[in-house]
Amino acid sequence: RAHLEAIAAGNEQLNAFIEVTLEKALAMAEESDARIGRGEARPLEGVPLGIKDLFCTRDVHSTACSNILKGFQPPYESTVTQKLWDSGAVMLGKLNMDEFAMGSSNESSARGPCVNPWRAKGKRKKLVPGGSSGGSAAAVAARFCLGATASDTGGSIRQPAALTGTVGVKPTYGRCSRWGMVAFASSLDQAGVITRTVKDSAILLREICGHDPKDSTSAPVDVPDFEAALDETVKGLRVGVPKEYRLDGMSAEMVALWEKGIEWFRDAGAEIKEVSLPHMRYALPAYYIIAPAEASSNLARYDGVRYGLRVDGNDLIDMYERTRAEGFGAEVKRRILMGTYVLSAGYYDAYYLKAQKVRTLIKQDFDTAFEDVDVMLTPTTPGPAFGINEKQDPVEMYLNDIFTVPINMAGLPGLSVPAGLTESGLPLGLQLIGRPYDEATMLRAGQVIE
Ligand code: GLN
Repeated sequence: RAHLEAIAAGNEQLNAFIEVTLEKALAMAEESDARIGRGEARPLEGVPLGIKDLFCTRDVHSTACSNILKGFQPPYESTVTQKLWDSGAVMLGKLNMDEFAMGSSNESSARGPCVNPWRAKGKRKKLVPGGSSGGSAAAVAARFCLGATASDTGGSIRQPAALTGTVGVKPTYGRCSRWGMVAFASSLDQAGVITRTVKDSAILLREICGHDPKDSTSAPVDVPDFEAALDETVKGLRVGVPKEYRLDGMSAEMVALWEKGIEWFRDAGAEIKEVSLPHMRYALPAYYIIAPAEASSNLARYDGVRYGLRVDGNDLIDMYERTRAEGFGAEVKRRILMGTYVLSAGYYDAYYLKAQKVRTLIKQDFDTAFEDVDVMLTPTTPGPAFGINEKQDPVEMYLNDIFTVPINMAGLPGLSVPAGLTESGLPLGLQLIGRPYDEATMLRAGQVIE
């Protein structure tokens, strides 16, 4: 009830929750109370959570914040959310996001922008919470819920976490089932969580991970107790600092914070090593070929016949065209155009195939670097939260993901931890990158920063 009251008091300003599932929340909470009373509490008994709108939730609107899915109420539950309910968590409602998770500011949402609860010192200007999981990050930062589900295709968990002073974790590709998650780019999409502390992330992550026969890309790998792994020290841990991450254009404050982070690890007894990722500068351009290519294919299913919106036309083709023209927003259309272009005959080899080869090189860079280190430490973003409507140029917006995208290209786990504030009082995050399926070490290292 305390969280529902916080939502009632503050959500109108922030637009983080796009739907509060009041009855469901109260019914689930009551069941939790009863179980606790009987001494049958499950691991997340009664923990109130917010759910990013791209997770399908049974009989609850699930639209990925797109008009094309307006009114869609799936008759099934995503595996990730089902696991949370099976563990006793309570659903408060659905959270704002960029349309189909395409964006870095939550401004492409068909439900309107979400506002970051943070403001620069003495300033009234409204800032973005980052994206695409902007609603998840803002809701956790504003104390509307104890944690939130999120998804990360190129940075959508870590970047908003960094911009709102919260913790965001994207596990290894294959750790969580993608079943029941609205697809953006299937070879990159991965579920994860945003919370207030590393420990909370470890607890929630433990509950949502695991093999699912309904998703052939989910891995049959045991899930360790991430929470228990937090107790070990980082003495002797080898922390890599990739030199290619020292980019021109990064804010001086971010550079200084990164240096501080390195010091914290040194003080904790870790060994710092410089490593090299020679192909890192190709990650973002290759991502913006592969992700739109997969998106254009995934989004072909929205044709006015099977889901959500339908705009009638003179004939079938006309109906398709009107439905898609009205249903998709500008950024989604841009991605479909790019994706269709790079997949078309004559351009496939030059763009898509080439980008796939670059992806392999990036993965190999990480494999080589991880021969010498256990985790890597980098900034999460080049700078702090920016103003709503401030970034109009799509390429400028895409540059926000420069530090997070390589991790998705390589399928690795990534974590953003709040590390400090700018002089103007805005949060900045540092990113830890782990070996495949070694989220435990990454989370343990994350505690050094918080
Ligand atoms: N901002 C990136 C994009 O727009 C990544 C989004 C995401 O991770 N879903 O594609």
